[in-house]
Amino acid sequence: VTTTTWDLLVVNAAVATMDPARPGPYGLVSDAAVGVTDARIAWVGPMAEAPRGAGAARIVDAAGALVTPGLVDCHTHLVFGGDRVAEFEARLSGASYEELARRGGGIASTVAATRAAGEDDLLRAATRRAEQLLGDGVTTVEIKSGYGLDLETEVRMLAAARRVGDELPLRICTTFLGAHTVPGEYRGRPDAYVDLVCNDMLPAVAGAGLADAVDAFCERIAFSVEQVRRVFDAARRHGLPVKLHADQLSDGGGAALAASFGAQSADHLEHTSPAGVRALADAGTVAVLLPGATHTLGERARPPVAALRAAGVPIAVSTDANPGTSPLLSIRIAANLACTLLGLTPAEALAGITRTAARALGLTGRTGVVAPGEAADLVVWDAGQPAELVYWIGGRLASTVIVAGDVVRSA
Ligand SMILES: [Zn+2]
Repeated sequence: VTTTTWDLLVVNAAVATMDPARPGPYGLVSDAAVGVTDARIAWVGPMAEAPRGAGAARIVDAAGALVTPGLVDCHTHLVFGGDRVAEFEARLSGASYEELARRGGGIASTVAATRAAGEDDLLRAATRRAEQLLGDGVTTVEIKSGYGLDLETEVRMLAAARRVGDELPLRICTTFLGAHTVPGEYRGRPDAYVDLVCNDMLPAVAGAGLADAVDAFCERIAFSVEQVRRVFDAARRHGLPVKLHADQLSDGGGAALAASFGAQSADHLEHTSPAGVRALADAGTVAVLLPGATHTLGERARPPVAALRAAGVPIAVSTDANPGTSPLLSIRIAANLACTLLGLTPAEALAGITRTAARALGLTGRTGVVAPGEAADLVVWDAGQPAELVYWIGGRLASTVIVAGDVVRSA
């Protein structure tokens, strides 16, 4: 009799594997077990089919509850100095955007506070925010730079972002977003700033291994298609994949631009044209929807979900957690808003915060699906069926969080 011994065995679970190779929108396996060896999933299936005599060093009994892959938040700005609480209060008390700008509000205030903050201060604040995501079942988080806008501060932001992964049991992906906005000292000289991004910042960041990808903001108030193209060419020279804040406030051809570089993702897409949707579909670029910004800004424009769906564009959902336009620290609320505001189905939203979000980070086959060979990133939920995770607006539903086979949170 051969016996199989796992490091960890989850039993009595209703596993929403999110594995497209299994039937149904959630790839659900009832009365299931998940065996973990060497931080990876070794086996998943009905308990009745588990290898005979299988044992484990540690057993987690889900008692019939739902188990999913660890959730993936693929677009955040968690590292920043200060906050924008006073601006939020002033705006809701009737102050105009002009008044707020005159008072030094907006992104410029976050840039000033971030430049003034030390790495440890940035780390401490970002870790507190990331802890909220972890408590909500997130096991992988992407964090962007983009509030430094000078070499030293961009490097400090990315170093702090990486260190969040030392403070908390989270997989961290870092993204260099030097081309977020033109800093005050370069006002009227955006091309000179793009030179700095391409010739100084990007080589330094890539050389130090601080970024896993490069992002930019393509918009009338930020960078043109031509300028973003220069940033993406530089990223390509350094072997880094790209992603893009595209078509958020106007149709600037951002989706097609991202697609033409084979971007991992094009994010926002509120004003993307039918041609942009086709380009994303042809390139296999993930559309990342950020309903927290729609909600916060009270924007009427919506990303073209029906067209994205019809074209077969993979759709992910993220918090866009940032101090100005989406102070959202729950990926499940983002998924709920993606359904209620943008029209996703719960199954699409759940795929969008697991499998497809992992794809947006280049992590396909590594996390985001409960299948053999993937990282053992799992969440046991205080819920019985997958749609519940999207149905409840917030609340503490993650009861046990497992990252790389380690139980890191347990209710
Ligand atoms: Zn963003």
